[in-house]
Amino acid sequence: MSEDYRSMWQNLGLDLVAHDALLGVLGKFYQDIYLAQKNRPAGMQYFDFVMSEVHGLRIRELLDEKKTGRKVIGTYCVFVPEEIALAGNATMVGLCAGADFAMEEVEKILPRNTCALIKSTFGFKLGKVCPYLEASDMIVGENTCDGKKKAYESLGSLVSNLYVMDIPQMKSAQGRALLKSEYRRFKEAIEKLTGVTIDGARLKQAIEIVNNKRKAIHRLSKLRQADPAPISGLDALLANQVFFYDNPQRFTDSVNKICDELEKRVEQKQGVFPAGTPRILMSGCPMAVPNWKLPWIVETSGAVIVGEESCVGERGTRNLVNASGNTLDELMEAIIDRYFQVDCAIFTPNPDRLKHVEEMVKAYKADGVIHYGLQFCQPYLMEAIPVAKALEDRNIPTLRIETDYGMEDVGQLKTRVEAFIEMLK
Ligand code: SF4
Ligand code: SF4
Repeated sequence: MSEDYRSMWQNLGLDLVAHDALLGVLGKFYQDIYLAQKNRPAGMQYFDFVMSEVHGLRIRELLDEKKTGRKVIGTYCVFVPEEIALAGNATMVGLCAGADFAMEEVEKILPRNTCALIKSTFGFKLGKVCPYLEASDMIVGENTCDGKKKAYESLGSLVSNLYVMDIPQMKSAQGRALLKSEYRRFKEAIEKLTGVTIDGARLKQAIEIVNNKRKAIHRLSKLRQADPAPISGLDALLANQVFFYDNPQRFTDSVNKICDELEKRVEQKQGVFPAGTPRILMSGCPMAVPNWKLPWIVETSGAVIVGEESCVGERGTRNLVNASGNTLDELMEAIIDRYFQVDCAIFTPNPDRLKHVEEMVKAYKADGVIHYGLQFCQPYLMEAIPVAKALEDRNIPTLRIETDYGMEDVGQLKTRVEAFIEMLK
C-alpha cells in the first residue's frame, strides 16, 4: 500500500496498526479462498482488483467525489433506496461488516447474544478500521429486526451523523403508507444534506442507473442456470457483495463483461466444476464481505452454489423499479412498489419468501437448499424451521445451518455439509 493511502486512512481517523492487521487477515483469506479456485472466468480479475483496493482506490474515489460537493451515505440494509441518494447527488455504500473485530470492546456495549452482523458493525466502528464508515456524511440505520433497532440507539452515541428510518413489519396498506412516508422523509433528509432538490428528471436518471446494475446481476444469475455452472457461487457472491460499494456504472459494465465471457462458456459447456456436480441454493441471512466461510465450505465439499436467496443476492436485487413515469410522484410510487416487495424475515407473515425459494430451486435446478442462519438472528432462525419443513414436504432436501463469523466450527460444518451433499448425489 502506498504512503498516500496511509495518510488518507490517518486523516479519516483510522487506527493504522489495527487496520494493517485487518488488511493482512483479509488479504490472506482472499488468497486462500478466492485465488485458490480453479477455472475462474478471466473477468473476475476486475473483482480481484476491487478487493485488493477495497480500502484504497475506492476510498480515494469517494473522497475525491466529496471534494466536488457530493455526499456519501453509509447503509446497512437493502431497504434504503439507492435511487433517492443518487438523485440527490450522493453516493451510497453498504457498511454491513462480515468479520469479527474488537469483540471485547463490542461486548461492553452489546449483549453477547447479538448476531455477528450487528456486532461486526460495532467492532468496525470501535476498532476504527472501516474507512467507508468514517467517510460517510450520513449513516442510515433502519428499524428492521429488534437487534438492529436497539443497537442503533447505542450506535447513535458513537457517531454524530446517524439517521434512522422506520420500516413496516406487515405487508398491509398501513405498512405501505409507512414506507411511503419514510421514503419521503428520507428524500427530504438527502436534499437537506446535499442542497440538491430531487425532481422527476433526476430521480428517473437515478432509477435507470440502479436498474442497470440490477439487470447486470440478473443476467449473471440467469447464466448460473446452466450445467456445468460457468461461475462459482463464491465468485457470484463476490459480485453481489461488491454491488454495494462500487461505482454503479463501472460495476454494471464489469458484470456485463463477465456475462459476455460466461455466455461463451455456457455455449462451449465449460464450467467451474464438472457437469452433474450437485447444485445448492443458499437461503437466509445476508453474507457481507468478507463472510465467505459457508460458501467456501460448500464449494470445497463437492457441490456448486447456483443461487443466493439473500439480501446479498436475489432478495436484494430481484425486481426493477418501473421507470416509465415522469413525475416525481409517479417515480416515488414506483420506488415504494419495488422495495415493498422485499421479503425480509422481519415481516410477519412472510409467505412470499418461501414462494421465492421454491421458484429459485426450480429456475436454478438446485438439488438442495442450505438455509444459512446467523446465531442469535431471531427472524431468520425462526423462519428457517417452517421454511425447511415446507421444502422437505415438497421433496426439496434442506439443511439448516446456524453459525457465526468464527472459524472454530469449520470442521463440524464441513462434516455436516459433506454428508448433505453425499445424500444429493
Ligand atoms: S435481512 Fe432484512 S434487515 Fe437485513 S439487510 Fe435484508 S432486508 Fe435489511
Ligand atoms: S442477521 Fe438477523 S439479527 Fe442480524 S441484523 Fe440481520 S435480521 Fe437482524
